[in-house]
Amino acid sequence: MEKYVLKCLGCGSQFPDHYTVNCPMEGCNSLIRAYYRSRQLDIKALPGIFRFIDWLPVERPLPVDAGPVTYRSEAFAREFGLNNLYVTFSGYWPERDACIRTGSFKELEALPTVQRFREKGSGVLQVSSAGNTGRAFAQVSALTGIPVIVVVPEASAERIWTTERAEHVCLIAVNGDYTDAIEFGNRICTLPGVAAEGGVKNVARRDGMGTVLLDGALAAGRLPAYYFQAVGSGTGGIAAWEAAERLIGDGRFGTARPELHLSQNIPFIPMVLAWREGRDTILPRDMPDARAAVSAVYSDVLTNRNPPYSVKGGVYDALSATRGMMYAVTNDEARSAERAFVDLEGIDLDPAASVCIASLLQAVEAGGIDPAETVLLNVTGGGYERIREDHTIHAIPPYLRVGASTPLDAVRCEIEGWVKAHA
Ligand SMILES: *Cc1c(COP(=O)(O)O)cnc(C)c1O
Ligand SMILES: [Zn+2]
Repeated sequence: MEKYVLKCLGCGSQFPDHYTVNCPMEGCNSLIRAYYRSRQLDIKALPGIFRFIDWLPVERPLPVDAGPVTYRSEAFAREFGLNNLYVTFSGYWPERDACIRTGSFKELEALPTVQRFREKGSGVLQVSSAGNTGRAFAQVSALTGIPVIVVVPEASAERIWTTERAEHVCLIAVNGDYTDAIEFGNRICTLPGVAAEGGVKNVARRDGMGTVLLDGALAAGRLPAYYFQAVGSGTGGIAAWEAAERLIGDGRFGTARPELHLSQNIPFIPMVLAWREGRDTILPRDMPDARAAVSAVYSDVLTNRNPPYSVKGGVYDALSATRGMMYAVTNDEARSAERAFVDLEGIDLDPAASVCIASLLQAVEAGGIDPAETVLLNVTGGGYERIREDHTIHAIPPYLRVGASTPLDAVRCEIEGWVKAHA
């Protein structure tokens, strides 16, 4: 019997996993979801994220200790009058046994994705990134020897480094923004032997991110009432909703879905604007002057211009199902929330995590949450200063630099050559 099956949320068809990212029914464009045979979460004595292997779409673990770590906040919680604040930290903080050495929760996506691809896929994996995802996949490549092609905007190329030497990473820098990198990456995936990692459609990415909620619920002994996260694509929000459904099915963690409290960084807030108007689609007017807005935010990992908001099973559905909320956070609010958190909790933060913390402070201020209830704060990245103290940073030089509209034919030979040499 299979450990899990995939099921389409739109047409309901069910199928086995061949690293499948799209519903096989012609014309069906819904997200697909993994349904696991184990209804109850049995924690395994495995490293990092793989203690949740029952609910990950992989057969075998990787020997990597990166995973989410949850603790109950004292100083920060007291300062802001929260009685049950749980922080799930996905970054590097050795004193709390947090050992994600590339500093963000993107490693929670990369680990099960690479393993799933090794078990069920073929060819070379391609991933597009604003920085954190590419670094996470490069690190997993360095640890496992699995080749990856990483496409990033030029300005993010310096963010692609690893703490072990990476010999099988093909880094391509695109002169443009994150969305340009995604589009160039899609073109590369038309080459033979190159496989799209899948983004939000990849169940390994979502279920990997979903371990944040699993870890938080285990630490708190129950599902939280509120889940706070900063979002660019919103994949983490969808993942938290899906993990909550599984925990409700487990039966030991309560029956109420955590409300999703998701945040974006002003001036780039398309999902906030659509949600506030009750719309299930993002309109051009939600992203006026997108390129200027993208370059003005404190956290540019939150600037996806094409998020999975409207798709069946996507962000709109997740917010609706959980009676969620969206927050718009200014750069100043993010910086000042960051200072408070760093002072009181003692670890540096990814700017996206600072945006999330600022949204929690907005909620407290506005009386939008019950401070006695359990809050799960998803601190999606941090500890970069400690990583640099404890580890050697191996920079990855770009293999190619291209323009946003460089035709594929101009680089076909180089990429095919790399794939032949590494596949
Ligand atoms: C990618 C990223 C986010 C946003 O995640 P999504 O759920 O994909 O929108 C938040 N924080 C950090 C540190 C990230 O790297
Ligand atoms: Zn379908």
